Amino acid sequence: MTDKNFDISKRNFVKKCLALSAGIATMPCHAAINSIVSEEQEIYRKLAMFQEETPRGIMCRICPNECVLKEGEVSDCRNRIVRKSKLYTMAYGNPCSANVDPIEKKPLYHFLPGSRAFSIATAGCNMACLNCQNWAISQTSPDKTRNFDLPPVKVVEESKRTNCRSIAYTYSEPVTFYEYAYETAVIAKEAGIKNVFKSNGYINPEPLKQLCTVIDAANIDLKSFNDNTYLKLAAGKLQPVLDALKIYKDNGVWLEITNLIVPNWTDSIDEIGEMCKWLSENGFKETPLHFSRFYPTYKLEQLPPTPVELLRTAANIATGEGLKYVYIGNVPGNDMADTRCPNCGTTVIARQGYRITANKILNGRCSNCNTIIDGIWS
Ligand code: SF4
Repeated sequence: MTDKNFDISKRNFVKKCLALSAGIATMPCHAAINSIVSEEQEIYRKLAMFQEETPRGIMCRICPNECVLKEGEVSDCRNRIVRKSKLYTMAYGNPCSANVDPIEKKPLYHFLPGSRAFSIATAGCNMACLNCQNWAISQTSPDKTRNFDLPPVKVVEESKRTNCRSIAYTYSEPVTFYEYAYETAVIAKEAGIKNVFKSNGYINPEPLKQLCTVIDAANIDLKSFNDNTYLKLAAGKLQPVLDALKIYKDNGVWLEITNLIVPNWTDSIDEIGEMCKWLSENGFKETPLHFSRFYPTYKLEQLPPTPVELLRTAANIATGEGLKYVYIGNVPGNDMADTRCPNCGTTVIARQGYRITANKILNGRCSNCNTIIDGIWS
C-alpha cells in the first residue's frame, strides 16, 4: 500500500468485514453500478494494476468493460474504487470463499486428475449472468461479504498444509481480483504449486499475457456463440472471450472450455454447431469441451433443466467437428464424464462425480494403444 490513509490493520479489517457482512450471505447487494460509496464503508487494500489516467477519469484496463471512474466511484465489478485519483482494488487478501476442492470440480479433467485444489474467491464479477450459480458473492462487493484474512503468502501456506497441488481462483470472477490472484500465483509458482483459473475469459490481452506467465491451467466459460445472447444473458461480449481462448492456448496454459446449455438462451443447435466448427478450425481440437447441464437458478428459476438428450446431441456435433475430448457435465452417472482414448476408444479415466475410479493413462499415453492423451498428468 503506498498511501497509509488507505490501509487498515488486519484485525480492524476482519472486524470491519464481520460487522458489515452480518446477514449478507443470503441477501446480496444490488447497489447501483458506479455508485458513490462513503469512505467509512470502504476497505482499501491495494493499488490496482493496469490503471490509466484519462481526461474522463481513471480507466481500468483489466477487462473489456474498461471502466472509467471518477473520485469515489465503484467499478462495474464492484470491487474497485478511485481514491485520491488512484484506482484501488478492495479484493486483495480477503476471500469470501476458501475451500479444498477436487480439481475435477472446476472442471479440469486433463490436469492432475484426482488432485486437490485450494480454491479461493473474493466478491465481484465483471459480468452479470442471469443464471449465475454464485450470485450471492459475484454480484456484491467485498465489504458486504463475510471474509477470511488470507494474504497471498497465507494462501500458499494453506495450500501446502492441505496437500493441494494447485490453487484455484474460482467461484466468482478471478479477473476482477487480478492483483490478489496474480501475486498469489507468483508465490505459489516459486513454491512448486500450480495455479488454475476458472473464469469467464473476459479479460484484455495485456493483463492476460502477464497472467499466463504464472497460470498453469484454465477452464473458461464460452457462454454462447451469439453476441446478442452474450449481452443479454451475461452483460458481456463474445469476441474478447474468443480472443482470450487463443491467448491462453498460445501462451502454453492448459485449457478446457465449458459451454452451459441454457434452455431458450443457448440451446440453438445451429449456434452450437457454429461454436464447435470455430473451435475445430481455430486450433482447439485437443482442448476438452464440457457441455454442462443448466439447473434453474437466480433470475432464470422459471426455466427447466437442460434435456439430457440435447446435451448428447451437442456432444455428437462437437465430436463430428473433430473435437477429441467432449464431456457432459452436471448429469450424475452419465457415461460422458469418462475420458476415452481418441484413437482406440478405451476408457482411460473413469469418473463418478468428482471421484476418479480408474486411471489407465501411463506416461501421458493410452495404456492400450500408446496414443498420446493430451493434458498434464503429473
Ligand atoms: S476489472 Fe472491473 S474495474 Fe476493471 S474494467 Fe473490468 S469491470 Fe471495470
